[in-house]
Amino acid sequence: MDYIGQTEIIDEFRKGIRHDSLGHAFVLTGEKGIGKKTLAHYIAKALLCTEKESVRLPCGCCRACKSFDEYVNPNLMVIRSETKNIVIKQIRDLIDDIGIRPLQGRKVYVIEDAERMTVQAQNCLLKTLEEPPDYAIIILTTSNYESLLLTIRSRVVRKQLKPSTINELKLIAQKKGIDTNGKEYLLALSRGIPGIAFQLMADKDFEKNREETLNFIFDENISTKLYYNQYLSKNRNAFAVCTDILESVYRDALLVKCSLEDGLINSDKKDNIMKYAKMHSTIDITEKISRIEKVRNNMKRNMNYQLAVDYITML
Ligand SMILES: [Zn+2]
Repeated sequence: MDYIGQTEIIDEFRKGIRHDSLGHAFVLTGEKGIGKKTLAHYIAKALLCTEKESVRLPCGCCRACKSFDEYVNPNLMVIRSETKNIVIKQIRDLIDDIGIRPLQGRKVYVIEDAERMTVQAQNCLLKTLEEPPDYAIIILTTSNYESLLLTIRSRVVRKQLKPSTINELKLIAQKKGIDTNGKEYLLALSRGIPGIAFQLMADKDFEKNREETLNFIFDENISTKLYYNQYLSKNRNAFAVCTDILESVYRDALLVKCSLEDGLINSDKKDNIMKYAKMHSTIDITEKISRIEKVRNNMKRNMNYQLAVDYITML
């Protein structure tokens, strides 16, 4: 099956495979949940596919592709942490294997969550990254690029994954058999990270949190504010999601003020948002958004939780 999204990266690899002009070591970077491992495996499959003239790479039909899908392609080796770290022994196994020339084509090594390599493991990998055999390609994935040794970073080509569009998220969900109709607001809140979108979809409290948050925004009386304040006090786990929803509605209100109603995240609440936008000035709404941002930053520095709730609900 095809990978959805990240077309730039995939096209570059396809081109490189066709012209045989690829480097030997890459690192796929991007936020947790963005799809790095899935992409690494998809690229590995394309690299190992033997139908190089196929319009689509990987072709999905050749022996190499079929054995890949059954996890028995002998030219693929995946290194991942069994416990917490990727240890030097695992890298030594890689080096032993990389020395053996394949019967044909390439050999691909995928190191998942490469930041989990111990310093010793990273140092052990260095030599191989410097002079890999011509048939070998090494693909690292990490959501913490900066934590890799500088010497590793300087020997791999970085490919940064992009957030998915709403449309791509819908296709990814469809592929997993998940119905997203009428849930565009949820997809939009994921900031284009499929992993977050699925997490939100699986969150049974999401709709409840959204309802409470929307009530708070649209029904602006003191008792609602107080109620919402208490709701957040009691549900600390919901705070991040609730502030994301708050921000999305305020941003929608700003869009309405610029007559950009078509791009609303919470399009199912368009009427309420238009009414809200009429009753509040742009400065007022912008101020609310910047308060949310401030609270988020302060929470990272251990801001008192009740203080954060008060600050948000007095908006
Ligand atoms: Zn193939």
